Amino acid sequence: MMMKTKHALAFLCAGACLIMSACTPECSESSLFAMDTYMTFKAYGENSTEALSQVTAEIQRLEKLFSVTDPNSDIGRINSSLGPSDVSSETAALIARSLEINKETNGAFDITLYPVSKEWGFTTGSYHVPDSETINELMKQTGSDKVTVSENIVTVSDGAQADLGGIAKGYAGQIAAEILKENGVTSALLSLGGNIQAIGSKPDGTAWSVGIKDPENTSQLAAAVSVCDKAVVTSGTYERFFEENGTAYCHIIDPKTGCPVQSDLLSATVIGYDGTLCDALSTAFIVMGQQKAEEYLNIHTDIDAVLITTDHRIFVTNGIFGDFSLIENSYSIIPHSTLIKKGERSEPDRNFPFSIFNFQF
Ligand code: AMP
Ligand code: MG
Repeated sequence: MMMKTKHALAFLCAGACLIMSACTPECSESSLFAMDTYMTFKAYGENSTEALSQVTAEIQRLEKLFSVTDPNSDIGRINSSLGPSDVSSETAALIARSLEINKETNGAFDITLYPVSKEWGFTTGSYHVPDSETINELMKQTGSDKVTVSENIVTVSDGAQADLGGIAKGYAGQIAAEILKENGVTSALLSLGGNIQAIGSKPDGTAWSVGIKDPENTSQLAAAVSVCDKAVVTSGTYERFFEENGTAYCHIIDPKTGCPVQSDLLSATVIGYDGTLCDALSTAFIVMGQQKAEEYLNIHTDIDAVLITTDHRIFVTNGIFGDFSLIENSYSIIPHSTLIKKGERSEPDRNFPFSIFNFQF
């Protein structure tokens, strides 16, 4: 069996190492390992060093609340309880938000898949293909209808267990952006694994450029988008998977089957002002597949996306199209009669000036 994970390199600096350094007189950089991923932050302005210290402390605090493997976290306590748990207002709110998104995505985003993803080995490292009887039994414990939130009380039934792994980093990025803004920082770029959060624009006033990995060759980029003040969140079947008997099994679980999703999307990048929603939707779109994701995007025009399909097409929503650059020419942009009108396509810009690559370790 072979296991591949975006976290392999990150383990080298496990233990929440924090390195602060000054890049220019008014720029600070820091990095840490948290929420099972390697995070790097860059902020400009005179308060940037203090603001990034606060961001680091806040992310570590949120990790203590949301960690699914820590029995003392809010999520750990919910998962070992057989009934109501009194949790922090953040945990209660994020679970409530997750339940709403579950409805909005017709069940594709589902925080209750922990019992099955644990059985597949995605949280323990004991990767294997369970037999169908085991999956069917564990599926009885899943379903967002088994979780209720009332103020700070979260109640689970039928052995349901929650896992905020598909939404927590987006939430953390959003909170981090708020902290930076409260500290007067108007220009920053945060990378929380595959989650990029842009604060304002670059110090020179131009947009941040965020690269989107080529899912078939993750050392290079397939495309890039330029954004100001938005989250750019990518989920991909390549991020974490294992192989058994020639089949690849990824870490995103199909709530209908309890098995790693077999998607026609290799990656889904969601771009918008609400980083929490972007994170949840990027995971949901992988489950929904290209057509259902496209239907969602047709209705929710405030959300933009770049979807890369298994047959080498890239779907780009109209709202981001002017800020999109194709880099890897083996992909073709999906002609979409309603969202992308003919003649609106730009030529690929091979000299695109990258500020950050959407690298996931
Ligand atoms: P992401 O990397 O944001 O796509 O999130 C993937 C993580 O979300 C997984 O590692 C699981 O912790 C969790 N997850 C897996 N499948 C789902 C799903 N269908 N809905 C919500 N969360 C999921
Ligand atoms: Mg996600």
